Amino acid sequence: MTYQPASDRYDSMTYRRCGRSGLDLPAIALGLWQNFGHSHAEDTQREIVLHAVDRGVTHIDLANNYGPPPGAAESFFGRLLAEDLAPYRDELVISTKAGYRMWPGPYGEWGSRKYLLASLDASLRRLGLDYVDIFYSHRDDPSTPLRETMGALKTAVDSGRALYAGISSYTAERAAEAVAVAEDIGLSLLVHQPSYSMLNRWVEEGTPSVLDVTEEAGMGNVVFSPLAQGMLTEKYLHGVPADSRAARGGSLSEDFLSEETLTHIRALSGIAKERGQTLAQLAIAWVLRDPRVTTALIGASSVAQLDDSLAALDNLDLSDEELERIDAHAVD
Ligand code: NDP
Repeated sequence: MTYQPASDRYDSMTYRRCGRSGLDLPAIALGLWQNFGHSHAEDTQREIVLHAVDRGVTHIDLANNYGPPPGAAESFFGRLLAEDLAPYRDELVISTKAGYRMWPGPYGEWGSRKYLLASLDASLRRLGLDYVDIFYSHRDDPSTPLRETMGALKTAVDSGRALYAGISSYTAERAAEAVAVAEDIGLSLLVHQPSYSMLNRWVEEGTPSVLDVTEEAGMGNVVFSPLAQGMLTEKYLHGVPADSRAARGGSLSEDFLSEETLTHIRALSGIAKERGQTLAQLAIAWVLRDPRVTTALIGASSVAQLDDSLAALDNLDLSDEELERIDAHAVD
Protein backbone atom coordinates (compact mmCIF):
# COMPACT_ATOMS: atom_id res chain seq x y z
CA MET A 1 0.00 0.00 0.00
CA THR A 2 1.25 3.51 -0.73
CA TYR A 3 2.71 5.09 2.37
CA GLN A 4 0.92 8.19 3.62
CA PRO A 5 2.73 10.01 6.43
CA ALA A 6 0.68 10.88 9.51
CA SER A 7 -0.95 14.26 9.08
CA ASP A 8 -0.07 15.24 12.67
CA ARG A 9 3.63 14.34 12.29
CA TYR A 10 4.86 17.80 13.20
CA ASP A 11 2.62 18.28 16.25
CA SER A 12 4.64 16.61 18.99
CA MET A 13 8.28 16.80 17.87
CA THR A 14 10.52 19.56 19.20
CA TYR A 15 12.93 21.14 16.70
CA ARG A 16 16.14 22.87 17.73
CA ARG A 17 18.30 25.20 15.66
CA CYS A 18 21.61 23.61 14.66
CA GLY A 19 24.23 26.10 15.87
CA ARG A 20 24.18 29.44 14.10
CA SER A 21 22.78 27.99 10.88
CA GLY A 22 19.37 28.17 9.26
CA LEU A 23 18.64 24.50 9.83
CA ASP A 24 16.32 23.12 12.49
CA LEU A 25 16.84 19.50 13.50
CA PRO A 26 14.54 17.26 15.54
CA ALA A 27 15.55 16.95 19.20
CA ILE A 28 15.61 13.20 18.62
CA ALA A 29 16.94 11.71 15.38
CA LEU A 30 17.18 8.09 14.24
CA GLY A 31 20.44 6.44 13.19
CA LEU A 32 20.65 3.31 11.05
CA TRP A 33 23.98 1.98 12.32
CA GLN A 34 23.24 -1.51 13.60
CA ASN A 35 19.67 -2.65 13.08
CA PHE A 36 19.28 -1.83 9.41
CA GLY A 37 21.44 -4.37 7.63
CA HIS A 38 20.97 -7.98 6.57
CA SER A 39 20.89 -9.10 10.21
CA HIS A 40 17.38 -7.73 10.74
CA ALA A 41 14.05 -8.28 8.95
CA GLU A 42 13.48 -5.58 6.35
CA ASP A 43 9.79 -5.30 7.27
CA THR A 44 10.78 -4.30 10.80
CA GLN A 45 13.37 -1.82 9.52
CA ARG A 46 10.75 -0.26 7.25
CA GLU A 47 8.21 -0.09 10.07
CA ILE A 48 10.70 1.66 12.40
CA VAL A 49 11.80 4.31 9.90
CA LEU A 50 8.29 5.10 8.63
CA HIS A 51 7.07 5.32 12.22
CA ALA A 52 9.88 7.75 12.97
CA VAL A 53 8.82 9.92 10.03
CA ASP A 54 5.21 9.74 11.27
CA ARG A 55 6.44 11.07 14.61
CA GLY A 56 8.25 14.08 13.16
CA VAL A 57 11.75 12.57 13.17
CA THR A 58 12.90 14.46 10.10
CA HIS A 59 16.57 13.53 10.46
CA ILE A 60 17.84 10.08 9.49
CA ASP A 61 21.55 9.43 10.00
CA LEU A 62 23.60 7.00 7.91
CA ALA A 63 27.21 6.25 7.02
CA ASN A 64 28.84 4.40 4.16
CA ASN A 65 29.70 1.44 6.41
CA TYR A 66 26.40 0.91 8.26
CA GLY A 67 24.92 -2.55 7.85
CA PRO A 68 26.00 -5.31 8.11
CA PRO A 69 27.47 -5.70 5.57
CA PRO A 70 28.87 -2.19 4.97
CA GLY A 71 26.60 -0.29 2.60
CA ALA A 72 23.48 -2.34 3.45
CA ALA A 73 21.82 0.38 5.54
CA GLU A 74 22.16 2.91 2.71
CA SER A 75 20.85 0.36 0.18
CA PHE A 76 17.86 -0.34 2.44
CA PHE A 77 17.17 3.35 2.92
CA GLY A 78 17.50 3.89 -0.84
CA ARG A 79 14.76 1.28 -1.40
CA LEU A 80 12.59 2.93 1.24
CA LEU A 81 13.06 6.31 -0.42
CA ALA A 82 12.16 4.90 -3.84
CA GLU A 83 9.12 3.00 -2.59
CA ASP A 84 7.71 5.19 0.17
CA LEU A 85 9.53 8.40 0.97
CA ALA A 86 10.45 9.95 -2.38
CA PRO A 87 7.51 12.41 -2.31
CA TYR A 88 8.69 13.60 1.12
CA ARG A 89 12.41 14.01 0.30
CA ASP A 90 12.31 17.73 1.00
CA GLU A 91 10.90 17.07 4.49
CA LEU A 92 13.93 14.97 5.42
CA VAL A 93 17.49 15.67 6.49
CA ILE A 94 19.55 12.68 5.37
CA SER A 95 23.16 12.46 6.46
CA THR A 96 26.00 10.14 5.57
CA LYS A 97 29.68 9.86 6.39
CA ALA A 98 32.98 8.47 5.23
CA GLY A 99 36.05 7.70 7.32
CA TYR A 100 36.04 4.01 8.24
CA ARG A 101 37.14 1.09 6.03
CA MET A 102 34.84 0.66 3.01
CA TRP A 103 36.97 -1.11 0.41
CA PRO A 104 40.44 -2.68 0.29
CA GLY A 105 43.62 -0.82 -0.51
CA PRO A 106 45.03 2.57 0.42
CA TYR A 107 41.99 4.60 -0.76
CA GLY A 108 39.30 2.76 1.20
CA GLU A 109 39.27 4.63 4.53
CA TRP A 110 40.38 7.73 6.52
CA GLY A 111 40.35 11.31 5.22
CA SER A 112 41.89 11.71 1.78
CA ARG A 113 40.11 13.61 -0.94
CA LYS A 114 40.38 10.48 -3.10
CA TYR A 115 38.48 8.35 -0.57
CA LEU A 116 35.93 10.89 0.72
CA LEU A 117 34.58 11.91 -2.68
CA ALA A 118 34.54 8.38 -4.14
CA SER A 119 32.74 7.18 -1.01
CA LEU A 120 30.19 9.98 -1.18
CA ASP A 121 29.44 9.13 -4.81
CA ALA A 122 28.98 5.46 -3.86
CA SER A 123 26.65 6.48 -0.99
CA LEU A 124 24.57 8.60 -3.36
CA ARG A 125 24.28 5.64 -5.75
CA ARG A 126 23.12 3.32 -2.95
CA LEU A 127 20.66 5.92 -1.69
CA GLY A 128 19.43 6.78 -5.20
CA LEU A 129 19.87 10.47 -4.36
CA ASP A 130 21.49 13.43 -6.10
CA TYR A 131 22.55 14.92 -2.77
CA VAL A 132 22.61 14.26 0.95
CA ASP A 133 21.79 17.00 3.42
CA ILE A 134 24.88 16.52 5.59
CA PHE A 135 28.16 14.86 4.65
CA TYR A 136 30.55 14.09 7.50
CA SER A 137 34.20 13.30 7.88
CA HIS A 138 33.47 10.27 10.09
CA ARG A 139 36.75 10.40 12.01
CA ASP A 140 39.82 12.54 12.31
CA ASP A 141 42.70 11.34 10.14
CA PRO A 142 45.94 12.29 11.88
CA SER A 143 48.05 11.53 8.82
CA THR A 144 46.17 13.60 6.23
CA PRO A 145 46.37 17.41 6.24
CA LEU A 146 43.09 18.88 7.49
CA ARG A 147 43.24 21.20 4.49
CA GLU A 148 42.75 18.14 2.24
CA THR A 149 39.91 16.64 4.29
CA MET A 150 38.10 19.98 4.70
CA GLY A 151 38.78 20.68 1.02
CA ALA A 152 37.01 17.45 0.08
CA LEU A 153 34.01 18.43 2.26
CA LYS A 154 33.96 21.83 0.54
CA THR A 155 34.00 20.16 -2.88
CA ALA A 156 31.11 17.94 -1.75
CA VAL A 157 29.11 21.06 -0.86
CA ASP A 158 30.19 23.21 -3.82
CA SER A 159 29.40 20.42 -6.29
CA GLY A 160 25.89 20.02 -4.85
CA ARG A 161 26.46 16.47 -3.56
CA ALA A 162 25.86 17.73 0.02
CA LEU A 163 24.05 20.75 1.41
CA TYR A 164 26.09 20.95 4.62
CA ALA A 165 29.30 19.48 6.01
CA GLY A 166 30.16 18.06 9.42
CA ILE A 167 32.83 16.31 11.44
CA SER A 168 32.44 13.34 13.76
CA SER A 169 34.40 12.20 16.81
CA TYR A 170 37.05 14.94 16.45
CA THR A 171 38.68 15.95 19.74
CA ALA A 172 38.25 19.55 20.91
CA GLU A 173 41.74 20.40 19.67
CA ARG A 174 41.30 18.84 16.24
CA ALA A 175 37.77 20.24 15.90
CA ALA A 176 39.18 23.74 16.54
CA GLU A 177 41.86 23.16 13.89
CA ALA A 178 39.27 21.83 11.43
CA VAL A 179 37.07 24.89 12.02
CA ALA A 180 40.01 27.23 11.38
CA VAL A 181 41.04 25.45 8.18
CA ALA A 182 37.43 25.26 6.99
CA GLU A 183 36.94 28.99 7.59
CA ASP A 184 40.15 29.70 5.72
CA ILE A 185 38.93 27.89 2.61
CA GLY A 186 35.40 29.32 2.85
CA LEU A 187 33.58 26.30 4.27
CA SER A 188 31.14 26.64 7.16
CA LEU A 189 31.00 23.46 9.22
CA LEU A 190 27.40 22.90 10.31
CA VAL A 191 27.73 20.26 12.96
CA HIS A 192 29.85 17.95 15.08
CA GLN A 193 28.73 14.37 15.79
CA PRO A 194 30.41 13.12 18.97
CA SER A 195 29.35 10.35 21.36
CA TYR A 196 27.75 11.57 24.61
CA SER A 197 25.76 9.99 27.39
CA MET A 198 25.50 9.78 31.17
CA LEU A 199 28.18 7.08 30.96
CA ASN A 200 30.43 8.93 28.50
CA ARG A 201 31.04 12.62 29.21
CA TRP A 202 34.22 13.30 27.22
CA VAL A 203 32.68 16.20 25.25
CA GLU A 204 32.38 18.19 28.50
CA GLU A 205 36.01 17.67 29.46
CA GLY A 206 39.01 19.96 28.88
CA THR A 207 39.38 23.68 28.32
CA PRO A 208 38.11 24.28 25.81
CA SER A 209 35.86 21.20 25.60
CA VAL A 210 34.30 19.90 22.40
CA LEU A 211 31.09 21.68 23.42
CA ASP A 212 32.99 24.96 23.94
CA VAL A 213 34.71 24.70 20.55
CA THR A 214 31.51 23.98 18.67
CA GLU A 215 29.63 26.75 20.49
CA GLU A 216 32.33 29.27 19.61
CA ALA A 217 32.29 28.09 15.98
CA GLY A 218 28.49 28.31 15.75
CA MET A 219 28.19 24.57 15.14
CA GLY A 220 25.47 22.30 16.48
CA ASN A 221 26.05 18.91 18.11
CA VAL A 222 24.22 15.77 17.07
CA VAL A 223 25.25 13.41 19.86
CA PHE A 224 25.33 9.69 19.23
CA SER A 225 24.68 6.71 21.51
CA PRO A 226 22.86 8.76 24.20
CA LEU A 227 21.57 5.45 25.57
CA ALA A 228 25.14 4.09 25.71
CA GLN A 229 24.09 1.52 23.11
CA GLY A 230 21.24 0.28 25.33
CA MET A 231 23.07 0.26 28.68
CA LEU A 232 21.06 3.32 29.76
CA THR A 233 17.78 1.43 29.58
CA GLU A 234 16.31 -1.18 31.90
CA LYS A 235 17.19 -4.02 29.50
CA TYR A 236 20.45 -5.16 31.14
CA LEU A 237 19.40 -4.85 34.78
CA HIS A 238 18.55 -8.55 35.04
CA GLY A 239 21.09 -10.14 32.72
CA VAL A 240 21.79 -9.94 29.00
CA PRO A 241 18.70 -10.68 26.85
CA ALA A 242 19.40 -13.03 23.91
CA ASP A 243 18.18 -10.56 21.29
CA SER A 244 20.19 -7.60 22.62
CA ARG A 245 23.22 -5.81 21.17
CA ALA A 246 25.43 -7.00 24.05
CA ALA A 247 24.49 -10.62 23.30
CA ARG A 248 25.42 -10.17 19.63
CA GLY A 249 28.94 -9.06 20.59
CA GLY A 250 30.79 -6.44 18.58
CA SER A 251 30.44 -2.81 19.56
CA LEU A 252 28.86 -3.48 22.98
CA SER A 253 30.74 -6.07 24.96
CA GLU A 254 29.29 -7.68 28.08
CA ASP A 255 32.51 -6.46 29.77
CA PHE A 256 31.04 -2.94 29.78
CA LEU A 257 28.35 -4.18 32.15
CA SER A 258 30.54 -4.37 35.24
CA GLU A 259 28.91 -4.57 38.67
CA GLU A 260 30.02 -0.95 39.31
CA THR A 261 28.39 0.29 36.11
CA LEU A 262 25.23 -1.70 36.83
CA THR A 263 25.05 -0.08 40.28
CA HIS A 264 25.09 3.37 38.65
CA ILE A 265 22.52 2.27 36.04
CA ARG A 266 20.20 0.98 38.80
CA ALA A 267 20.49 4.29 40.67
CA LEU A 268 19.78 6.29 37.50
CA SER A 269 16.82 4.03 36.78
CA GLY A 270 15.50 4.85 40.28
CA ILE A 271 15.75 8.59 39.57
CA ALA A 272 13.95 8.08 36.25
CA LYS A 273 11.14 6.20 38.03
CA GLU A 274 10.67 9.01 40.53
CA ARG A 275 10.18 11.33 37.54
CA GLY A 276 7.65 8.94 36.01
CA GLN A 277 10.07 8.19 33.17
CA THR A 278 11.93 5.20 31.82
CA LEU A 279 15.70 5.28 32.05
CA ALA A 280 15.94 5.73 28.24
CA GLN A 281 13.77 8.85 28.55
CA LEU A 282 15.89 10.27 31.36
CA ALA A 283 19.10 9.55 29.42
CA ILE A 284 17.78 11.48 26.41
CA ALA A 285 16.46 14.39 28.51
CA TRP A 286 19.86 14.57 30.20
CA VAL A 287 21.89 15.04 26.99
CA LEU A 288 19.34 17.56 25.73
CA ARG A 289 19.62 19.64 28.96
CA ASP A 290 22.54 21.47 27.34
CA PRO A 291 21.30 23.85 24.63
CA ARG A 292 24.54 23.27 22.73
CA VAL A 293 23.30 19.74 22.05
CA THR A 294 20.97 20.04 19.09
CA THR A 295 19.91 16.43 18.80
CA ALA A 296 20.03 13.11 20.63
CA LEU A 297 20.83 10.58 17.90
CA ILE A 298 19.33 7.26 18.96
CA GLY A 299 19.10 3.76 17.59
CA ALA A 300 16.12 1.41 17.91
CA SER A 301 15.52 -2.24 17.11
CA SER A 302 11.72 -2.00 17.40
CA VAL A 303 8.89 0.51 17.10
CA ALA A 304 8.18 0.06 20.82
CA GLN A 305 11.74 1.17 21.69
CA LEU A 306 11.43 4.16 19.38
CA ASP A 307 8.14 5.22 20.99
CA ASP A 308 9.62 4.77 24.45
CA SER A 309 12.57 7.01 23.54
CA LEU A 310 10.43 9.64 21.80
CA ALA A 311 8.31 10.01 24.94
CA ALA A 312 11.39 11.64 26.52
CA LEU A 313 10.09 14.83 24.95
CA ASP A 314 7.13 14.83 27.37
CA ASN A 315 9.47 15.82 30.21
CA LEU A 316 12.80 17.39 29.37
CA ASP A 317 13.05 19.59 32.47
CA LEU A 318 15.59 18.57 35.08
CA SER A 319 15.82 20.38 38.40
CA ASP A 320 19.19 21.35 39.93
CA GLU A 321 18.57 18.82 42.65
CA GLU A 322 17.93 16.04 40.11
CA LEU A 323 21.03 17.03 38.12
CA GLU A 324 23.14 16.84 41.24
CA ARG A 325 21.84 13.38 42.09
CA ILE A 326 22.43 12.25 38.50
CA ASP A 327 26.00 13.61 38.58
CA ALA A 328 26.87 11.15 41.34
CA HIS A 329 26.08 8.27 38.97
CA ALA A 330 26.74 9.79 35.53
CA VAL A 331 30.41 8.84 35.54
CA ASP A 332 32.52 7.43 32.77
P1 NDP B 1 21.70 4.30 21.38
O1 NDP B 1 22.60 4.65 22.51
O2 NDP B 1 20.38 4.98 21.27
O3 NDP B 1 21.49 2.73 21.42
C1 NDP B 1 20.48 2.12 20.64
C2 NDP B 1 20.24 0.69 21.15
O4 NDP B 1 19.73 0.74 22.47
C3 NDP B 1 19.16 0.00 20.33
O5 NDP B 1 19.69 -0.66 19.22
C4 NDP B 1 18.58 -0.97 21.34
O6 NDP B 1 19.44 -2.07 21.52
C5 NDP B 1 18.64 -0.16 22.62
N1 NDP B 1 17.44 0.66 22.84
C6 NDP B 1 17.07 1.77 22.17
N2 NDP B 1 15.95 2.32 22.69
C7 NDP B 1 15.62 1.52 23.72
C8 NDP B 1 14.57 1.56 24.66
N3 NDP B 1 13.68 2.58 24.62
N4 NDP B 1 14.50 0.59 25.59
C9 NDP B 1 15.41 -0.41 25.63
N5 NDP B 1 16.46 -0.50 24.76
C10 NDP B 1 16.55 0.46 23.82
O7 NDP B 1 22.41 4.62 20.02
P2 NDP B 1 23.31 3.78 18.97
O8 NDP B 1 24.52 3.29 19.65
O9 NDP B 1 22.45 2.81 18.26
O10 NDP B 1 23.70 4.94 17.99
C11 NDP B 1 22.69 5.75 17.41
C12 NDP B 1 23.14 6.29 16.11
O11 NDP B 1 24.26 7.15 16.29
C13 NDP B 1 23.65 5.26 15.10
O12 NDP B 1 22.60 4.59 14.42
C14 NDP B 1 24.44 6.13 14.18
O13 NDP B 1 23.57 6.84 13.31
C15 NDP B 1 25.09 7.11 15.15
N6 NDP B 1 26.44 6.67 15.53
C16 NDP B 1 27.49 7.41 15.04
C17 NDP B 1 28.78 7.04 15.27
C18 NDP B 1 29.87 7.88 14.74
O14 NDP B 1 31.04 7.46 14.75
N7 NDP B 1 29.58 9.05 14.23
C19 NDP B 1 29.11 5.83 16.07
C20 NDP B 1 27.95 5.17 16.60
C21 NDP B 1 26.67 5.60 16.33
P3 NDP B 1 19.09 -3.56 21.08
O15 NDP B 1 19.55 -3.62 19.66
O16 NDP B 1 19.90 -4.35 22.04
O17 NDP B 1 17.59 -3.76 21.21
